[in-house]
Amino acid sequence: MSSLSSQLWHKLVGMLPGEINDSEAGWLLSPQGHMPLMNGRRARIIVNRVRLVACLFGVLTPLWIVVDLLALPWRLSLQLAVLRLIASAAFFLLYRHYRASATLMQAWAGMACLFAIPSLFYVISHLLLLNHNLEGISAAIGTGYAFLPFVLLAGLAIFPLSLAECIGFAVPALSAHLLGGMLEWTTVDWPSFWGSFWLQVLIAGVSALACTSQLAFMIALVQQAVRDPLTGAFSRRSGEEVLELQATLALRCQSPLCVAFIDIDHFKSINDKFGHHVGDQALKGLAERVGGELRKGDVLVRWGGEEFLLLLPNTTSAQAMRALARLRRCGLGMRPDGEPITASIGVAEWFEDGSYDWRQLLKLADARMYQAKQNGRNRLVGRNVEHHAWLEEEPLLQSV
Ligand code: GH3
Ligand code: MG
Ligand code: MG
Repeated sequence: MSSLSSQLWHKLVGMLPGEINDSEAGWLLSPQGHMPLMNGRRARIIVNRVRLVACLFGVLTPLWIVVDLLALPWRLSLQLAVLRLIASAAFFLLYRHYRASATLMQAWAGMACLFAIPSLFYVISHLLLLNHNLEGISAAIGTGYAFLPFVLLAGLAIFPLSLAECIGFAVPALSAHLLGGMLEWTTVDWPSFWGSFWLQVLIAGVSALACTSQLAFMIALVQQAVRDPLTGAFSRRSGEEVLELQATLALRCQSPLCVAFIDIDHFKSINDKFGHHVGDQALKGLAERVGGELRKGDVLVRWGGEEFLLLLPNTTSAQAMRALARLRRCGLGMRPDGEPITASIGVAEWFEDGSYDWRQLLKLADARMYQAKQNGRNRLVGRNVEHHAWLEEEPLLQSV
């Protein structure tokens, strides 16, 4: 059974935009495990759409007052006009309140408000309309109000959401419909009630498909945008974004943040002797090896040609030195002439080095990498005074 469902899952994933792999496909089910860069971009898109829809509804909602005034009884249309003006003001408040720099949590809150305003509008207008026995054209206009839950569920489709998020937003809307039926259980026409409920479930299903397709497309685009195409490591631009994020987190949680600047030794000679293509393969191989040794949460960035930056959140410099020494022992790959590829590495840590600006931290790691070059290459330089005993076991590790 489980192999059947996994086969089905792979088939479904295969139909999604080519670039997303199995682990990324899991992101379509729930936002858990999404990388912070993705969260940031998604939050921006969601907030932008919330603002767009809020602005649009803020303008359109009061326009219908004219139709109500022409078609509905005077008193009812005035009550509905007040309701529309309040809803319009709430939409504009929402539009003004949110900024594109919101977090994912704030984006969800924005969506919840966007859905809460028409839901409340629906409930109150429903109660007002219940008191009137409308006929003819008035009845037709009054029925229009009953379509609002359908519009809400269809409106979900414009957001890039995971399945869990879609369910989170669709279930309250569907429950409200059920609750409405329960409240009027003596008078409600049950066959048509269940018919319209089923239609809403179908619309929610189609919206969920649209939301997750948008999310899949977004994952593919973000992955392409943040990765260096040759090595698969993060590109410099996205690396800077990750650093900025990790620096903020490290400061907030008072947790260590280590960076290691890695520069391959005598890389130019590989290109000169064996050609650029062989050099490219060496870079790719090195990134794969380093990537294979990383902990979850560590990030490898291709900073420039043959220079990489390794970001190690929640890691002290002593732990980083140990991890890097292990990496060096495992090897960074072979040159075509059979010699091992070596690198000079500079390590710096946020708190120990007293550098609370990530650019400063990078400068320090870069300076230590140059020191490693000057001291003879193929070594690791950090400010790790407590680890002299261990450093002595590793003759190529130095502390400054
Ligand atoms: P050092 O030990 O002092 O670091 O010497 P090096 O030869 O590694 O450093 P240098 O800065 O002199 O040369 C870096 C070379 O990396 C030069 C450049 O052609 C090569 N390079 C940069 N980007 C790429 C790339 O994408 N592919 C290939 N094949 N080579 C690259
Ligand atoms: Mg270099
Ligand atoms: Mg080099």
